[in-house]
Amino acid sequence: MEMGRLVYEGKAKSLYEHPEEDDLLVMEFRDDITAFDMEKVDRVEGKGVCNCLISARLFEVLEDEGVPTHYVDLVDERRMVVERLDMFKLEVICRNIATGSLVKRLPFEEGEELDPPIVEFDYKSDEYGDPMVNMDHIRALGLASEDEVERMRELTLRVNEVLSEFLEERGIILVDFKLEFGVNPDGEIVVGDEISPDTCRFWDAETRESLDKDIFREDKGDVLAGYLEAARRILEGDEEKLAMLPG
Ligand code: 5GP
Repeated sequence: MEMGRLVYEGKAKSLYEHPEEDDLLVMEFRDDITAFDMEKVDRVEGKGVCNCLISARLFEVLEDEGVPTHYVDLVDERRMVVERLDMFKLEVICRNIATGSLVKRLPFEEGEELDPPIVEFDYKSDEYGDPMVNMDHIRALGLASEDEVERMRELTLRVNEVLSEFLEERGIILVDFKLEFGVNPDGEIVVGDEISPDTCRFWDAETRESLDKDIFREDKGDVLAGYLEAARRILEGDEEKLAMLPG
């Protein structure tokens, strides 16, 4: 596919205009990996392909269950066509097990089950370090309306139900994850960005070993091996995508 103009370059993905359709974009998953506000930066060859194929599969699972996403189609193993969205400057985090920043901020026990799950909103800003915000901050900053926040929360909890069940069948615990939302050209709030080991904590159901970016954050071993293991399990039954995995 001919690529249009580069629209946006993030830490691990690039967005291009679609060659034919104004309402579509092409999202490319690169092999760059960063953590702790760019304190840690590296390249893991093959990571972009894992994230692209995992995201594509999880977006398909969500769409099948009636959760709207920006995903349209795969172009190849590291590029997908997505709807052009007007993004909310918010990150919506959902937690089923206490770990990560939660146990640093509040008196939860590491590994404690959170039932019902905890949903948090962060202001997406490198300058301010993605601080957690409440509805008053969101309103005062003009980031979203009350109805929009309620809809994002409802969709996030639905994503949690659908993906927790899908992953459990594949021996993966969905510990927590981060979603980003936007408004599509039809005016509908949909899940954007990616759903991958970069944005979720995936634990092996038996060993509780990380199959996600914590391997990189905490120097816990071979990052690509963990991402590939997550990918093989998530893509099980989807021979076309499995065949596109590296190695
Ligand atoms: P925590 O707040 O514990 O660091 O992260 C909670 C969950 O949200 C983890 O799955 C983590 O990967 C994801 N998450 C939170 N903030 C970000 C972010 O700025 N970027 C990415 N890629 N993931 C995030």
